[in-house]
Amino acid sequence: MDDVLILGDMKEGSLDTRTLELVGVGRRLAKERGGDLCVLILGDAPGGGAAEAASYGPAKVYSVAHPLLKGFQPEFWLKALEQVCAQVKPGVFLMSHSYKGMELGPRLACRLGARLTTDCIDLAVDPQDGLLLRTKPVSGGNAISVFKCPGEPQMATVRGKVFEPAAAGEAKGEIVEIAVELDASMARVASLEVVKEEVVALDKADVVVAGGAGLGEEDGFEALEDLRKALSKSFGNVMIGCSRVAVDKGWISSDHQVGLTGTMISPDIYVAVGISGAIQHLVGMVHSKKIIAINTDAGCNMFKVADYGVVEDFEKIIPALVEKLEEL
Ligand SMILES: Cc1cc2nc3c(=O)[nH]c(=O)nc-3n(C[C@H](O)[C@H](O)[C@H](O)COP(=O)(O)OP(=O)(O)OC[C@H]3O[C@@H](n4cnc5c(N)ncnc54)[C@H](O)[C@@H]3O)c2cc1C
Repeated sequence: MDDVLILGDMKEGSLDTRTLELVGVGRRLAKERGGDLCVLILGDAPGGGAAEAASYGPAKVYSVAHPLLKGFQPEFWLKALEQVCAQVKPGVFLMSHSYKGMELGPRLACRLGARLTTDCIDLAVDPQDGLLLRTKPVSGGNAISVFKCPGEPQMATVRGKVFEPAAAGEAKGEIVEIAVELDASMARVASLEVVKEEVVALDKADVVVAGGAGLGEEDGFEALEDLRKALSKSFGNVMIGCSRVAVDKGWISSDHQVGLTGTMISPDIYVAVGISGAIQHLVGMVHSKKIIAINTDAGCNMFKVADYGVVEDFEKIIPALVEKLEEL
C-alpha cells in the first residue's frame, strides 16, 4: 500500500520522456513513503517497453498484454487499469498530464473512489500522514496551490518537463505479467487512425516569431506566418513560437511553446508579438541574441528585455513589416 505506481507510455517503440520524468519523481516519492516504485506498461505486445522500463531500476514492472490494448482505446485501458489496481493496490498512482492521462485519470479515479489532482508541477509526501502533497497552478496560472486529499490510491497527473527524466540504473526491476479480462463488446470506437504529428524543433531555429494572447484568436497566427515567410528569405530557419496561453486556448500545438514548460531557446532573433513577458515565458527566450517586441502595452515586461520595441497593434505593424521585408 506504500508503493508508487506510474503508468508508462511508449512513443515510437521506446519509453516516452514523460514516463522517465515520472520514474524520477516516483522514485523519490516511493522512498519518502517507504515503499517501492513500480511501473505499469499496457499494450498488445508490451514486452519491449517493460524490459526498457525495468532498466530504470524500479522494484517491479507490471506488464499487461492483451490484443485489445493495441493503440489507445480508453474503454479497454480503463478496464485494464481498474483490474491492475485491484490486484496491486498501489498507494500512489501517477500518470502524465498527456492526452492519455487526461482521459484516463479522472475516469479511473471515479471508478476507484479516489481523488485525483491534475496537472501537478510538484509532488511531495507529507511526513505526518504519508499523503501526497500535490502542487498545481490555479486561477489561470496566477497562483500555486498545494492540495492534500485522503483515500487510496493517491492519484495525480503530472505536467511534462517539470521533473528531470530518470537515468537508466544498474539494478534491473522484476517484470511481473498481469492478465486482464477484456471484452471486445466494450469498444466504443469503430476505427482508429493514428496521424503522425509534425514535430517542431524550436531550439534549432535561427529566428523565432512568437505569438501570445495578444493575437486575440487563432487567425492571428496567419499574420505571424506571413512574417515568418518574409523573414525566411533573409534568414535560415525561421519558426513559429508561442506563449502558453496560445496553447491553452487551442490556437497552436504545444511543441511551439516557449518557456519554463515549453522549449528553452536562444535564437539569433526572437520576435515576441502580443506576449506580455511573464517570468515563465522569459526564462525560455531571454537568452535570444536580439529580442524584438510588438505590444500595445508600453509598460509590459517584454519591453524590459527587448532590444527593439514597437508599441502598436500587431494587426497594423506586421503587414507593414512584411511589406518592407518583401522590398529587400
Ligand atoms: C508553472 C507555470 C509554468 C508556465 N510555463 C509557461 C511557459 O512555458 N511559457 C509561457 O509562455 N507561459 C507559461 N506560463 C504562463 C505564464 O505565467 C503567462 O500566463 C503566459 O506566458 C502569458 O501569456 P501571454 O503573454 O501570451 O498572455 P498575456 O499575459 O495575457 O499577454 C498578452 C499581451 O498581449 C498584448 N496585446 C493585446 N492586444 C494586442 C495587440 N492587438 N497587439 C499587440 N499586443 C497586444 C497585451 O498588452 C499583453 O501584454 C506558466 C505558468 C505557470 C504557473
